[in-house]
Amino acid sequence: MSSTSSSPKRIVVLGAGYAGLTAAKGAGRHHDVTLVAPEERILHRIRQHETAAGRGRDWPAIGDLVRGRRIRHQRARAVELDLAGHKVVLDDGTTLDYDTLVYALGSRTAWHGVPGAVEHAHPVERAAEVRRLIAEAPRPGTLAVVGGGATGIELATELAEAHPGWRVRIVAAGQVGGIYSAKGRAHIRRVLDRLGVEVHENATVTEVTPDGPRTAAGPIHADLTVWAASMEPHPLAAEAGLAVDERGRALVDDHLRSVSHPDVHVVGDAAAVTVPGVGTLRMGCATALPQGQYVGKLLDGRTAAPFSFRYVVQCLSLGRRDGLLQLVHPDDSMKPTVFTGTAGRLAKAGIVSVVLSALK
Ligand SMILES: Cc1cc2nc3c(=O)[nH]c(=O)nc-3n(C[C@H](O)[C@H](O)[C@H](O)COP(=O)(O)OP(=O)(O)OC[C@H]3O[C@@H](n4cnc5c(N)ncnc54)[C@H](O)[C@@H]3O)c2cc1C
Repeated sequence: MSSTSSSPKRIVVLGAGYAGLTAAKGAGRHHDVTLVAPEERILHRIRQHETAAGRGRDWPAIGDLVRGRRIRHQRARAVELDLAGHKVVLDDGTTLDYDTLVYALGSRTAWHGVPGAVEHAHPVERAAEVRRLIAEAPRPGTLAVVGGGATGIELATELAEAHPGWRVRIVAAGQVGGIYSAKGRAHIRRVLDRLGVEVHENATVTEVTPDGPRTAAGPIHADLTVWAASMEPHPLAAEAGLAVDERGRALVDDHLRSVSHPDVHVVGDAAAVTVPGVGTLRMGCATALPQGQYVGKLLDGRTAAPFSFRYVVQCLSLGRRDGLLQLVHPDDSMKPTVFTGTAGRLAKAGIVSVVLSALK
C-alpha cells in the first residue's frame, strides 16, 4: 500500500475537526505529523447550537489532545495545494512538504446564492457571534432559524429553551425533520410546539433582508436570522485538482485515498465515501470520526483492510431536556422505532461524550 509504511514519513493533516484530529492521532504514533488548523481549541461542531444559545464552554485545546504523539499543531490555514510537488502553502507564509497528505478541511455554510443571505444571515458555524448578538440585543426580539434539518432543529429548540423571551421561528424548504420516521417527526413537532417555536414549512427562502427571510409566500419577520440550511465542502480540493463529485467532495477509493492522487487521503465532510451496501455517506460527525480513525490506523500500519461502515442510529438534541434517538437501517434509511424524551436526551448526551472521548 503506497501510503502505509513502518518507516517514518512526513505526514501533513489539513484540518483538526473530528476526521483530521483522529487521523493525526493515529498516524502520529510513529510518523511525524504536522496538523494544520487555525483554531487553538477544537471546534466541536456537534455542540455549536449550545454555544449559540450561550450554553457552550471552552472545549479542549488541540495541543493538549495530541500531547505524547509525534504531532506538531501549526495554527494556520492552507491556501494552496501543489499536488504534483507534494507541497502545501499556508497563510502564514510557510510551505510544508509531505510524503502523505490527509485532507480533512470539512465543510462550511452553503448560501446557495440566496440574495442578502451572506450580508444579513448569521451562519451556524459562527455560533459565538449568534450568542453575542442575542446577549447584546437591547430587548428580546424575533429570531428566525433557516433550515429544517437536524442542525436547524437542534438550534431552534436550544435557542427557544435558553431564551424564552425571544420568539423563535424555524423556516424549512420542505417539512421540518422530513428525513425522520413519522414518529420521529411527530415528536420533533411536539417539542417545537411546547417550546413555542413557530414552524414555517414548504417555505423556500428566496432572499434575506435586515428584517428577516423572505419566501415566495411573503416575508417572515426576524430581528436576527441564523442560517443552518446546508453545508458544502471546502473548495480547496476542487481548486487544487483532486477529483471531486458534483458537490465538490473528493472521490476516494475503498482505502479513502483520492482516486486521482493516491498519496492524498480524504476524510470527513470533504470526502465522498461510498460503501458497498450502504451508499455514499452523508456529511456528519458520525461518518467523519470513523473515517479519521480508520486512516490513522491505516497510516500507522495497524490495518490494511478496506474502510467499512454501517449506520445504526441518528440522534437529535431537542434542548437540554428532550431528545430523539431514531433507529436506522445500515444504509441510514429510517426504522419506525424512536426513543424520545429523557431516553432520547440521554442517548444523545452519551454519544456526544463518546465523541469527545474519541478525540482524547
Ligand atoms: C450545529 C451543528 C450540529 C451538528 N450535529 C451533528 C450531530 O449531532 N451528528 C452528526 O453526525 N453531525 C453533526 N453535525 C455535522 C458535523 O459537525 C460535521 O459533519 C463534522 O464536523 C465534519 O467533520 P470534519 O472533521 O470533516 O470537518 P469539520 O468539523 O468541518 O472540521 C474542519 C477542520 O478544518 C479546518 N479548516 C478549515 N479550513 C481550513 C484551511 N484552509 N486550512 C486549515 N484548516 C482549515 C477547520 O478549522 C477544522 O479544524 C453538526 C453540525 C453543526 C454545525
